Amino acid sequence: MRQTGVAPLTVVHGKCVDLSFEGKGVVKNGSDVIFVDGMFPGEEGDIEITYRRAGQLFGKVSHLDKKSPNRIDPRCKICSACGGCTFQQYAYEAQLKWKTDKVKEQFRKIAHMDVEVQPCVGMDNPYYYRNKIQMPFAKDRKGNVYCGFYKQNTHVIVPVDKCHIEDERAEKILNVCKKLMKSMHIDPYNEDERYGVLRHVLIRTSYYKDQIMVVLVTAVDSFRSRGNFVDALVKECPEITTVVQNINSRATNVILGEKEHVLYGKGYIEDSLCGLSFRISAKSFYQTNPVMTEKLYRFAMEAGKLTKEDVAFDAYSGIGTIGLIACKDVKNVISVELVGAAVKDGIRNAERNHIEDFKMYCDDASSFMVNMASRKEHVDVLFMDPPRKGSDERFLNAVLKLKPSRIVYVSCEPSTLARDVAYINGMYQVEVIQPFDMFPHTTHVETVVSLSLKKADKH
Ligand code: SAH
Repeated sequence: MRQTGVAPLTVVHGKCVDLSFEGKGVVKNGSDVIFVDGMFPGEEGDIEITYRRAGQLFGKVSHLDKKSPNRIDPRCKICSACGGCTFQQYAYEAQLKWKTDKVKEQFRKIAHMDVEVQPCVGMDNPYYYRNKIQMPFAKDRKGNVYCGFYKQNTHVIVPVDKCHIEDERAEKILNVCKKLMKSMHIDPYNEDERYGVLRHVLIRTSYYKDQIMVVLVTAVDSFRSRGNFVDALVKECPEITTVVQNINSRATNVILGEKEHVLYGKGYIEDSLCGLSFRISAKSFYQTNPVMTEKLYRFAMEAGKLTKEDVAFDAYSGIGTIGLIACKDVKNVISVELVGAAVKDGIRNAERNHIEDFKMYCDDASSFMVNMASRKEHVDVLFMDPPRKGSDERFLNAVLKLKPSRIVYVSCEPSTLARDVAYINGMYQVEVIQPFDMFPHTTHVETVVSLSLKKADKH
């Protein structure tokens, strides 16, 4: 989003009274509210107003007179600049409490529902948890290549040498990429000038198997030294089991393009979840925190109260994980996913786990649901796990026609979750709301809500 109307630099003194849904400190200054990065409730100090957007003021702390007891020394010294882990300076228990409250608040504000929310389940060791790492690259004045994260709302890359939330195996691979790009004259792509070759390097690590995928996202299809680059990369990092080139020539902030070449290995990695084995391709969605994903999936299975007579439906299914895990406890599973590569993975995943009572379709979940409802098909339990924007009215109207007796809604965005639950709340009763901390030190929270069909609405 663009930042407009940058106010002349003003410093005000204020007290932080709350944390916003975005995790910014809320400071009242007369009739103004200032949203302050890295300021926590109870803290007082000087705040530099940095910009105004849509009538709201944003700022950063320039001096603190009073610190919160929940303020801690972050492991990462650039966590404020990078913008990824805005909560690394906030005690982990306080992060979890904020996430629980955020879910409750979103239900109150958006769904007008006063709900009970279980305390957010946290990680025992909330570091080095991410199995997917994606970094843009750039070159400094001396010609050295670096990589990092985009500073919020800009194309400016904050160099990152060590990230404390990503799988540690990525660090060496990224360093080798930087070195080889420089020595082989492979230019990082510059978004503003639209010049250069390599846009991003994406690394996917398997938690249970010694497998690592490197995806080279390039602006052009072929480039000089491609073969030598891959040979040298794999020689220096033999832990890499596959290298894929993904071509994205569009001016977009979507990282991956459509076209792909497998440059080394099988083109996918394998990992395990809840005792099943999964293959994961570059373009397929796969949860990024393997430890918490298992906890979340186990909870989702229990919340579904599955029986051997049940027909289960898994919507927005990615590579089929939830549906395949549910399969052993139900009669059969139908699943639907939009991305072709993920569906291909899902079908292979059923085969590799010898699961037969499973059908997966490549379609828009809403169109598929509408068709199921018009054919009056029978579904007992619906798992739904849409992207951040949530589901839509077509999908939810079809749910109200199909009337599955149980719904397990997995969501990575509490605001759209609350909106969607409110939409079906007339017919469905909320049983449990359980947040999971899939993304420690960030302001994101994953939530599972189980719902049951109200008695009067049963067939
Ligand atoms: N349940 C899976 C994936 C959840 S992420 C898991 O736990 O791993 C959401 C998924 O919804 C992604 O795979 C995305 O490709 C898919 N998706 C997004 N929009 C969709 C739509 N309109 N119809 C079907 N699937 C969609």
